[in-house]
Amino acid sequence: MLSETIRKSAEETARILKNLRGPLSLAFSYQAEDTAALHLVLQSGAGDLEVFTLDTLKLFPEIPSYHRDLEAFFGVHIRTYRPDSGEVSALEEKIGEWGMRASLENRRLCCRIRKLNPLEKILAGKGAWITGLRAAQSPTRMATPVLEYDEKFGLIKINPLAAWEDEDLAEYIAQYGLPQNPLYAQGFTSIGCTPCTRPVGEGEDIRAGRWWWENPEHKECGLHTKERRQA
Ligand code: SF4
Repeated sequence: MLSETIRKSAEETARILKNLRGPLSLAFSYQAEDTAALHLVLQSGAGDLEVFTLDTLKLFPEIPSYHRDLEAFFGVHIRTYRPDSGEVSALEEKIGEWGMRASLENRRLCCRIRKLNPLEKILAGKGAWITGLRAAQSPTRMATPVLEYDEKFGLIKINPLAAWEDEDLAEYIAQYGLPQNPLYAQGFTSIGCTPCTRPVGEGEDIRAGRWWWENPEHKECGLHTKERRQA
């Protein structure tokens, strides 16, 4: 039987979705959390839902095949968006192919061009977006609520798994047999771009393999941070 936390989250999410107007977008970044969030939202019967992913052009080679498996399992199309090719060329000219590791400024610029800029276009005109964020994932996500207003992108943001512990996630995945990213079997515990993600060692935090050369308080790509975008 599913935990009380999961049951309450499912009820709360269904209630929120029922009262929302406008098209919904669910962000899918091939994490275990995304499979649970998508399953939970589909179960709630949400209509007018776009499931999308951001192909930063720096993803792992395992992703395309996993993407096809996910679409077959869930019976949904996961729409792929890519960054502007002109912006990517200018970025690579400026920082090089691996320059995102050279400084925080370079890394943030790369995340902005490959992730933030496309996301801003995707979310324009949407009523709300849905993520797989959990408060237990990292210090930067400790204050994640189920429902919030996303000032950065100017719309409602729903995080159905906000209160889930690692055990809740594992339980939900096992209960419904949700297909998981093959990178987990290689020691990765959080999935991102190839240059910025590594497997973690015994006892390390689950997001320790993301931007591992940076301080923990910087380890976000900017999609889920509070500050407004600079013009
Ligand atoms: S995670 Fe790394 S490669 Fe991906 S967009 Fe951010 S800096 Fe660039």
